[in-house]
Amino acid sequence: MNYFSSDFKLGILGGGQLGKMMLYETRKLDIYTKVLESSKEAPCRIACDEFVLGDLLDFDAVYNFGKNVDVLTIEIENVNIKALEKLEKEGVKVYPPTKALKIIQNKATQKLFYVDNNIPTATFSRFAYTSEIADSIAHGGISFPFVWKAAQFGYDGQGVKVVRKVEDLQDLPNVECIAEEMVPFKNELSVIVARSASGEVVSYPVVEMEFHPEANQVEYVICPARIDESVAKKAQEIALRVSDKIQQVGLLAVEMFQTENDEILVNEVAPRPHNSGHQTIEASYTNQFEQHIRAILDLPLGSTENKVAGIMVNLVGAEGYTGAVVYENIENILKLEGVTPHIYGKKQTRPFRKMGHVTIVNKDITKARAIAQEVKETIKVISK
Ligand code: ADP
Repeated sequence: MNYFSSDFKLGILGGGQLGKMMLYETRKLDIYTKVLESSKEAPCRIACDEFVLGDLLDFDAVYNFGKNVDVLTIEIENVNIKALEKLEKEGVKVYPPTKALKIIQNKATQKLFYVDNNIPTATFSRFAYTSEIADSIAHGGISFPFVWKAAQFGYDGQGVKVVRKVEDLQDLPNVECIAEEMVPFKNELSVIVARSASGEVVSYPVVEMEFHPEANQVEYVICPARIDESVAKKAQEIALRVSDKIQQVGLLAVEMFQTENDEILVNEVAPRPHNSGHQTIEASYTNQFEQHIRAILDLPLGSTENKVAGIMVNLVGAEGYTGAVVYENIENILKLEGVTPHIYGKKQTRPFRKMGHVTIVNKDITKARAIAQEVKETIKVISK
């Protein structure tokens, strides 16, 4: 099939920043794109060939959008899976395959999949409703502290809460959920694996993530992770095993915990480009977005090696500011060595909303980390 400068149509479900960055690559290769998204202000609006307004969870919206494309992919997991199943049956190439997406969309199903496939993960109990947890605590089934996670529709830590006492359960939505053992981890790691439709597989170097303690959002992504070779090797092996078992096509970001005893436990996976791979745009031979396009179009995969060390700083809305966005001191960070800001194009900021990111590259990772800190302390995402 000729994808380039042709009648071929790639459909993308979701119009956020991940889609926007994917579109830089389709522009580079002159691949025709259509995006489905519910907000007309979304970041993708400026870079796709066709922008269709519609609800990603609505069967008709997704089905009608998908039936006119050759390959359909996602930039967010919360999409109508029934519509994707029908499209797949009718011959549309859907990547991630609906079978893989179904496992991933629901955290309880995802955790059971790890157990069934001998993939190490934190122990957990599954509940149809949050209200059933209190009973289990009373009968000694689970003990404090544990991590409550909504089975569906959580994003950026919003569906996650550490529960230390019964009262902490009160404010949680009464939905299908899991209660997971609290892992005292040393590090959070991620490996992005790319797998093409015909089964070629490559993986990126292990990255290390530092989280904002309150917002549960990544503050720094550091590549390569400053960990022992043996731990990195284990993380790579496990990530490749997950990719193989799940038979993903496209990217699979595998988030893991490195425990105090240097065990690796899989936390969760995302079947798409991921926040933990943004530094690849400046730091790698092949960035994650181009790699995703190569994989879903069954083209040869590119080198995942780093050209230099890369650190990514998320630009999230500062607390106490809601409204039209202002990126304060952005000129000052541009004076620093190896700094590239990415502004997602969301007009409105609110506390902890992902508004952009900054990549810092340097031959020396220690220097990159110091500059990253300066970036973090200098730039502020506020409102007018
Ligand atoms: P989301 O889908 O919202 O990204 P995650 O399951 O990745 O949610 O959880 C968000 C963050 O919460 C993790 O990155 C980690 O910092 C913390 N967390 C999640 N599960 C556990 C756990 N079992 N033990 C300790 N911390 C956890």
